[in-house]
Amino acid sequence: MSGLHIPLAGPDGIRTDHAENLLAPNPSEMTLEGTNTWVIGTDEVVVVDPGPDDEAHLQRVVRHLGQRRVTQILLTHGHHDHSGGAKRFAELVGAPVRALDPEHRLGGEGLAGGDVIEVGGLELRVYGTPGHSFDSLCFWLPADLAMLTGDTVLGRGTTVIAPDGNLADYLRTLDLLRATAEELGAETLLPGHGPALADPLHALDGYIAHRRERLDQIRAARASGARTPREIVEIVYADVDRELWFAAEMSVRAQLDYLDRL
Ligand SMILES: [Zn+2]
Repeated sequence: MSGLHIPLAGPDGIRTDHAENLLAPNPSEMTLEGTNTWVIGTDEVVVVDPGPDDEAHLQRVVRHLGQRRVTQILLTHGHHDHSGGAKRFAELVGAPVRALDPEHRLGGEGLAGGDVIEVGGLELRVYGTPGHSFDSLCFWLPADLAMLTGDTVLGRGTTVIAPDGNLADYLRTLDLLRATAEELGAETLLPGHGPALADPLHALDGYIAHRRERLDQIRAARASGARTPREIVEIVYADVDRELWFAAEMSVRAQLDYLDRL
């Protein structure tokens, strides 16, 4: 949609020194090419977002891992396209599932901003990043100067604020990620969908600008007489494929909710 971001390559098999993506076969308008399942580490690994409950995908990940041991399964958030296969994958590899939302944990401890995960000498630092969903987390991999962003930042286009998310939280999260990426010298964003992004500050600036622009457009649409979310979508998202208008309407509701609380 925005065309602001510079992809490194297509999602399947993209990697940094210690992170590698295995793309799940669930492409759609909302999931782009599919869900990115990230394997982090060398001999010991953590797996981030097993993806949907798709046996062939989960088995492919297991085969790919070979002799490497999975110590933990982490979820960037509880949406089905990331978490649906977690229980089955946990059975296959004998590892606990950790997530912010207790509903999605299995056998292990919780997971929250400030936690540090250690795997085979690597560190993964957890950031609480609510907004897309209430339970969204990002994971910073210092060894690769890479941030795993789940659905908070996608490899292409923009993120939708889901019904369990919140735009005010999301705007704060984008500012936090922007400041964090700058402070830590982030070189790569590894998203939950779509290709990796090689210029984190540029990508985050684009996201922040896009949100401000949409809010301005919604204010203007209201000022010109549009009242219902649908009427606003017809004006503000006129250039967006009609098949995506249900998502746009979700986004408009989140934005109206935000504006009405200011
Ligand atoms: Zn997703």
